[in-house]
Amino acid sequence: MAVHSLRVPIDGTSVGEAAVYAVPLDDGVALVDAGWPSDAAWTAFTAALDDAGVAMKDIRHVLITHAGHTCFLHTGEDVLFTGDHLLARITPNVGQQSIEDGSQPLADFLASVRLVAALGARRALPAHGPEFDDVAGRAAQIEGHHERRLTDVAALVAERPGISGYDVARRLRWAKPWDAFTPPMRRSAVGEALAHLVHLRGAGLIHSSDDLVVRWYPIA
Ligand SMILES: [Zn+2]
Repeated sequence: MAVHSLRVPIDGTSVGEAAVYAVPLDDGVALVDAGWPSDAAWTAFTAALDDAGVAMKDIRHVLITHAGHTCFLHTGEDVLFTGDHLLARITPNVGQQSIEDGSQPLADFLASVRLVAALGARRALPAHGPEFDDVAGRAAQIEGHHERRLTDVAALVAERPGISGYDVARRLRWAKPWDAFTPPMRRSAVGEALAHLVHLRGAGLIHSSDDLVVRWYPIA
């Protein structure tokens, strides 16, 4: 029996639905993720379990990818449950929480993307959106996306020495116009801009001031 993909709606987020995977075991099934806590999600989840011929009492384990964004490799089926780490059409928000604590979330993320690609799994089963086969190819696309964004951020700092992280975020290319961003989306975007700024600073290409509003300058 192959892995079943169960689709569960998510309210109020841009991803639309969560994928729950039911993985056959010798004595039941393991679930990878469990959907969303809403009545609509529960109804869809229980109906999809029924359709897959899985009874609630057969569930032995529930593995959650979203706790720290863990990936699970199922060696028997050669599939990789990628959670939000690798998705077919979107990239996860990589956000910098503090620019002074030494954290390098973008470097960590890119290292993890390469690590997961090197597992060589046949097929990726992500937490949202379509499944895909070319795991290494998608990983390379995501790396390319961040490389381009690093180039864009470095260019903004070069053109506007003293630019703030907020102004970098506002001027980057996003899937929708900045004016259409809600406050939480802007907060995520600023976190992502800061992750790229800190990455460039770590590479010795730019530096930051210690003003109350931190400003970013190119290193000539
Ligand atoms: Zn997710």
